[in-house]
This record gives sequence, structure tokens and C-alpha cells, in this order.
Amino acid sequence: MRLIHPALAGIALTALATAAAPAVAAEEVNVYSYRQPFLVEPLFKAFTDETGVKVNVLFAEKGLVERLEAEGRNTPGDLIFTVDIGRLNDVKEAGVTQPVKSETLESVIPTQYRDPAGHWFALTTRARVIYASKERVADWQNLTYESLADPRFKGKVCTRSGKHSYTVALIASMIAHHGREKAAEWLKGVKANLARKPQGNDRSQVQAIHDGICDVSLGNNYYYGAMMAKPDQKPWAEAVNVSFPNQANRGAHVNISGIALTKHAPHRANAVRLMEWLVGPHAQKIYAEQNFEYPIRSDVAWAPLLETLGTFKADELPIAKIADLRNDAARLVDEVGFDG
Ligand code: FE
Repeated sequence: MRLIHPALAGIALTALATAAAPAVAAEEVNVYSYRQPFLVEPLFKAFTDETGVKVNVLFAEKGLVERLEAEGRNTPGDLIFTVDIGRLNDVKEAGVTQPVKSETLESVIPTQYRDPAGHWFALTTRARVIYASKERVADWQNLTYESLADPRFKGKVCTRSGKHSYTVALIASMIAHHGREKAAEWLKGVKANLARKPQGNDRSQVQAIHDGICDVSLGNNYYYGAMMAKPDQKPWAEAVNVSFPNQANRGAHVNISGIALTKHAPHRANAVRLMEWLVGPHAQKIYAEQNFEYPIRSDVAWAPLLETLGTFKADELPIAKIADLRNDAARLVDEVGFDG
């Protein structure tokens, strides 16, 4: 596996382009990744060990879609790796992907977690949970997203920006389930309950609960694992219960990490092979444990830490529906002045 870091982007592009050109190129596949090296490196190494196909990775925090657009049919990139339905949908909307028809992918990945047209596929899921103070929220197992707007939580809710893709996706799911008007009312209610202006990331909200600033916060489930693994953040995680919301009705909102095949993938066959390998039992185990996400495969064991949080009911709303409603959700955030 050859790793290419953003600082070397210019050089990397050349290297990739050269590698893609010769007729007798070694078996390889080129991945553009928004996901961090610690998450994907172990996966690609295992793939290469098992198949002999080399994986070249270009890591970046942004700009990969623009890059694919600029490279057009000369792109060396075969696959794009990312988190969040928002980003996956943006890649599709930009017209830089192509559909994949694969029995393997379709049999392993539940319908709600892949693009109906085959442009993107989920590899893992993550639940948007409510972190609830152990000391101050006794009924943490019965919380709902709707309850965050209840008067009982006046001045007790913490969250990151309403404009962050995680929040936007949750609001989109509220629109899908309740309609725009009710979702707007709810969002106003949550805003009225905020302990402070939206700020920071998911972890800093849990820190705020630990510090007594708020009682409940929104966050992705895997940050619980991440905090438990860091001695300075462990006390934050230990101050909260992880509540999977809406268990008595539709279930917890989930988002995905996923993959898409680029429109002009020069190593199409190897790329599809990697996609299919990524939903296999070995890859799924590595991927899920690395970041405390839920494997897309139902027959793969969860990370032990996730087991301790218990099973939960997930909202089965097709993730593509969330993609469709994202713009509406973002507009609501502005209308309500959620971050203001
Ligand atoms: Fe995250």
C-alpha cells in the first residue's frame, strides 16, 4: 500500500496518473479518501494481503469532488471513500460517479442503506444518540428526539452547529417523519432549550454535560468509544448514559459511511472487487472495530464496547430520503436562526 498525504498532493496526482497509464500496470486500485488513515489503512492492507491488488490512497479533508471534476476522464481515482449521506450525495450530484450493479453489494447491504440507482453504498452505520447525564436524567432510556424540545429540558440541551452535516441529516429525518411545519416547531423548541449557543464538536457537548453546563446532548455513537479510549476524555464518557432515541416508535436516526465508484475509474474491475471485499466478513470486522461504528453486515460481531451499549432499533427511513431533504433541512436551520 502506498500512502499519499495531502501535503504531497501535486506529486501524488502525477504518481497516480503515471501508475494508471501503462498497459501492463500492476494490479492496483486508487482511492480518494475523506476518511482518516487510521481507519482505512488496516483495511487496505488486509485487502492487498488477501488479493495482491495494491491500494493507493489519496487522503484529503476536502476538495476531492472538485478534484474529480477537474481531472475528468483523466482521473486516476477509482473510488471515493467518505462519511455521511450528505457527502455521498454531493459526490453523486456532481456527476463524478457511476452506478454499480453487484449481487454481492445488493445482498449484503439493506436497501435503505444504498442509492436506489447504485451510485453509493454504505459500509457502516452510526446512530445519532442522545448523551444523557447519569446524575440528572433518570429516564434516559425513554428519550426521543422530540423530547429535546420539551419544557423539562429548558436550558439543558447542548449541541454542535445546526449546519453541521450530522445535524442537518437528523433535521431532514424529522422533516421526513413529521413534515416541514412540525419539524420547524421542533427545531425552535430545541433552540429555546439550549444551554448555550451551538458550538464545538460532538465530544465537547459530552464534556459540557460532565461539567454541569447541560444535561443532554446530541452525538454520534462512536464518539463514546473514542472518549473511553482517551484517558483525558474518559471522565466525560463516564458521566453520561448513551440513549438510543425513539425506541418505542420509529427508532434511532442513523447515518452511514460509504463508498462510490468514480465515473471514469481506470481500474474498474479492481475497484468493484474492493467494494465487494469491503462488505465481506473480514473487512466489516476491521472497519467496525476501528471506529466503533456498526457493520453493515448483520452477521458480523460488533466491537465489544458497542455490545455493552446494547442493541437498538434503527429508523428504517431510506437514507436517500434524507439526502433529498437535506436542502430543506439546511434552510430550516437558517430560518429558525438555530446557531444565532
Ligand atoms: Fe464524526
